[in-house]
Amino acid sequence: MRPLAVFDIDGVLADVSHRVHFLQCHPADWRSFFDAAQDDVPLPEGMALSSEAAKDCDVVYLTGRPERCRSQTEHWLSTHGFPQGPIVMRSDGDHRPARRAKPPLLRVLARGRIVAVVVDDDQDVCDAYVKAGWNVLQARWAGRSDALHQAQENDGRT
Ligand SMILES: [Mg+2]
Repeated sequence: MRPLAVFDIDGVLADVSHRVHFLQCHPADWRSFFDAAQDDVPLPEGMALSSEAAKDCDVVYLTGRPERCRSQTEHWLSTHGFPQGPIVMRSDGDHRPARRAKPPLLRVLARGRIVAVVVDDDQDVCDAYVKAGWNVLQARWAGRSDALHQAQENDGRT
């Protein structure tokens, strides 16, 4: 069985910068933020890394996006030619910070499998993964958004 390579989507594969403004109003407009994800431009570094990883690993996507974004996310990944693989998403009512929501999802995903690498852009998420003993690659190519980080931390939506 091949090892897993686990990829976050927002900020790793997808450029979310055009829709962060939906989170900068009060209250944040999460529905518009996610609806606009279909217009995300793929990040070339993420594309290259995921297709490279797919040579030796089974690619899995572990995103903080809620389940209701599943079909749109599947469509976006296939439209842009990302490797095929299952998508693990948070349940619709789960508003925990990503650093708390994602590690348990990874643990379930990794049962009986070797995880070669997990790639995420969020510093807090990467810290949590490292602390749990995973091999982490932090994506630093998307440009950090304080608005997005604050929203993820406070509203726990992505
Ligand atoms: Mg992310």
